[in-house]
Amino acid sequence: MGKNLTKRSEDYSKWYNELVVKADLAENSAVRGCMVIKPYGFAIWEKMQAELDRMFKETGHQNAYFPLFVPKSLFEAEEKNAEGFAKECAVVTHYRLKNDPDNKGKLMVDPEAKLEEELVVRPTSEAIIWNTYKNWIQSYRDLPILVNQWANVVRWEMRTRLFLRTAEFLWQEGHTAHATKQEALAETEQMNDIYAEFAENFMAIPVVKGAKTENERFAGALETYCIEALMQDGKALQAGTSHFLGQNFAKAFDVKFATKEGGLEHVWATSWGVSTRLMGALIMTHSDDQGLVLPPNLAPIQVVIVPIYKGEEQLEEISKVANELVKDLRAVGVSVKFDDRDTHKPGWKFAQYELQGVPVRLALGPKDLEKGTVELARRDTLTKEFVSRDVVVEKVKGLMTEIQDSLFDKALKYRDEHITEVDSFDEFKKVLKEKRGFISAHWDGTPETENKIKELTKATIRCIPFNRKEERGACVLTGKPSEGRVLFAKAY
Ligand code: AMP
Repeated sequence: MGKNLTKRSEDYSKWYNELVVKADLAENSAVRGCMVIKPYGFAIWEKMQAELDRMFKETGHQNAYFPLFVPKSLFEAEEKNAEGFAKECAVVTHYRLKNDPDNKGKLMVDPEAKLEEELVVRPTSEAIIWNTYKNWIQSYRDLPILVNQWANVVRWEMRTRLFLRTAEFLWQEGHTAHATKQEALAETEQMNDIYAEFAENFMAIPVVKGAKTENERFAGALETYCIEALMQDGKALQAGTSHFLGQNFAKAFDVKFATKEGGLEHVWATSWGVSTRLMGALIMTHSDDQGLVLPPNLAPIQVVIVPIYKGEEQLEEISKVANELVKDLRAVGVSVKFDDRDTHKPGWKFAQYELQGVPVRLALGPKDLEKGTVELARRDTLTKEFVSRDVVVEKVKGLMTEIQDSLFDKALKYRDEHITEVDSFDEFKKVLKEKRGFISAHWDGTPETENKIKELTKATIRCIPFNRKEERGACVLTGKPSEGRVLFAKAY
């Protein structure tokens, strides 16, 4: 239970790993780097999916599905994309196993079942999708194409962590095709805005919107926009990316369209994605030493009712009241579970729901029945109070918004207190070591300087914020002229 969790101040990373497992979100599997997402964790992911899916559809996107495998010849067509992902590709070379004649009971790859062309397990789907779009697009009337797919991808990551970086992960990837550069750029920005809105309004995570530097850009993109969040340990996390792909994929796959004016032009592209990494962001932004803390907008169960009773008769009395409460809460749109299992003691249940971050717990005992009260506990503040039964539904309903807002405000305060402007490299190193968080500093705009700073400090440029103030200055490392401040941080 909560008691056994390593404290964040002792070992943040250990705390995270323990929490993910103990709160029943996910666990490591028999496959290196691949996780099992458990039902409770998956329920949170499904809530995220549902909201994002709604937002995508409201902006005109439709879901489709493309194959898991990408023939190598298609994969290599867009050179930059291929080069960027080549190092982490799983590749299928054979399609059959057979009994091993030298090793009874064992199977071996059948050398006669070698594929003529190797298949890459998709690390991202631009190649297979643009090869398909070629057949869908002839004229300007076929544009735009606004498609999203919910899928799994595989990137053979060497250092993996549950949710944050896994070899196989779940995500959505949007792939759109447009007649003009302007339209594609607007789409790139729109989807980044949607990610920001989702992060802030549902996950209660404040994010910085910005553009990636050339070093950090998606392989094959002309621009990568992103949302960057700050975790409680002062490390940054890339929470979502939206790419402007220019005409790179259209050129690689020869996708042209007849324009209104009768010309023939290459199509403009975007792609954008968020992954199960968002689960990691959610956990690391709000949770505490007692366990998970969930914002009501994404909690699979918003309220749990725990009966405290001795004997059948008392349970029956309490259940009557509890079932009424369940009905009334559902009627106002609050999701609620009445946990009347007699296999677990109330204390065990309290600890479990605390660990699992259920935003509000109601407890009902015989004394409450007498007095017409309910004990209400808030997970985020760990406070308790007795509430009269007549007002408890209204109170809980109000709390859903209050908790959601208060989690966001707390995260925003932390984030804002951890954006530090520095003007010298000594200060840069000092802040990075002692305070962490985002460091807002001038940079001369070259990949070389960015690499040098990374080498010296492990900090990378998280983004060039869209809303940065106009301010010329001198690069913290080289002293060369800078167009404006960028955000550095150590990142997950
Ligand atoms: P990308 O296609 O590289 O722009 O990534 C799309 C989204 O997936 C971004 O939000 C990344 O943060 C996330 N992501 C990238 N690699 C991984 C990974 N190994 N595990 C989980 N999420 C990832």
